[in-house]
Amino acid sequence: MGDATPTSGLPATGLSREQIRARLDTSKLDPIRGHFTRAFRPPLEVQQVGLEAYMEFLSDNAFFSMYLPYIGDLEGDLMRMCTSLFHPHADSTASPTSGGSDSIYCGIHAAREWGKVHRPGATQPEVLMPYSAHAAFDKACHYFGLKPVRTPLREDFRADVDAMNKAITKNTVCIVGSAPCWSFGRYDPLTEIAALAGEHGLWMHVDACVGGYLAPFYEKLGRPMPVWDFRLPQVKSISADLHKYGYCPKPMSTILWAHEDLLQYHYYHPENWPAGPYKMKGLAGSRSAGPVFAAWSVMSYLGEAGYLDLARKLMATADRLAKGIAGIDGLEVFKTDLMPFTFRGTSIDLEKLIGVMFEKGWVLLGNHEPPLINMPLDAATTDEMVDLLVQELAQGCEAIRSGKVESKGALRYG
Ligand SMILES: *Cc1c(COP(=O)(O)O)cnc(C)c1O
Repeated sequence: MGDATPTSGLPATGLSREQIRARLDTSKLDPIRGHFTRAFRPPLEVQQVGLEAYMEFLSDNAFFSMYLPYIGDLEGDLMRMCTSLFHPHADSTASPTSGGSDSIYCGIHAAREWGKVHRPGATQPEVLMPYSAHAAFDKACHYFGLKPVRTPLREDFRADVDAMNKAITKNTVCIVGSAPCWSFGRYDPLTEIAALAGEHGLWMHVDACVGGYLAPFYEKLGRPMPVWDFRLPQVKSISADLHKYGYCPKPMSTILWAHEDLLQYHYYHPENWPAGPYKMKGLAGSRSAGPVFAAWSVMSYLGEAGYLDLARKLMATADRLAKGIAGIDGLEVFKTDLMPFTFRGTSIDLEKLIGVMFEKGWVLLGNHEPPLINMPLDAATTDEMVDLLVQELAQGCEAIRSGKVESKGALRYG
């Protein structure tokens, strides 16, 4: 029998199931204080529906989705359910991806290919985006040989559209807005960005990774939301994560295309290798069909009524946490348009607070500039969790005020 102590190589003989179990058990976080590292989850019953499908199709390869109907048909149904939420045109469509970053890579890659045809003067193509756009846009530019151009924000933490206008050059191919951005949970002035895209003939990408599968339901519940989707005719692509407020198990996201013919800029099907045409839906080759079957199952199980219920529950959870934060001396809610739930320190150093909370077992996500704490609340967040969080935040602030806290944690996301 092998040895479960850490080694630098493959065990010479296999570990027992018990040894494996023991090692896995040491990896567990506190179920309440570690909750936000496991976001975004629905209530347990819905998780079970996803999990069953996930396990059953875990080993099936979704790389066959362009060939084999048993995967392709269901994935097609899933993509149509998704597209229907974004006020689609008659020929809008969607592609499955492994996550928000992957969706952004697909959008930026397609924008580059489209630019070769529609922006032929762009010899060194640029992607124009506000400072608050997700870091995955820089990664996409790096991978695909584009230049990221970030413009400052207005005082309200939304894109400064005048600054974006001034930054447009003959090399600009793509303009980006967030719906909303992660750091501040605020929507950029997308109607104005769309007007710039129209005027200058640019590809417009809307990043709705966090908001895409929540905003439609908040809107139906009467929450006023800005127009952010295909209602803006200039929008060509939207990234939206099923593994966030779609409440589907990771890794699962979507890239939505305004018109089906834009897929010509997305697909790349090489043939020049020994195994014939290589037709994949996106950047990935082999990928588990588990997340696809799970996402289809979760969305079908919830339906519109289910998502509306979860949206109502989330609103109530956010209100409860907002009341709690309002009662803590030194903290204040930072108003977002949607999610993440965010707060800042009025007299408390958040680096100290995140450090103190980490010592208590809470893993919280921070924003560095300006200092904020972003909370990915989800429909599995219970009142008990919120109340314990509020109680321990209050204790943490008290400890900081009394000078008992020396060390600092890092306000960071990744
Ligand atoms: C989460 C997020 C992303 C990246 O998504 P991943 O699934 O983590 O790759 C991009 N943009 C926004 C606004 C996000 O919230």
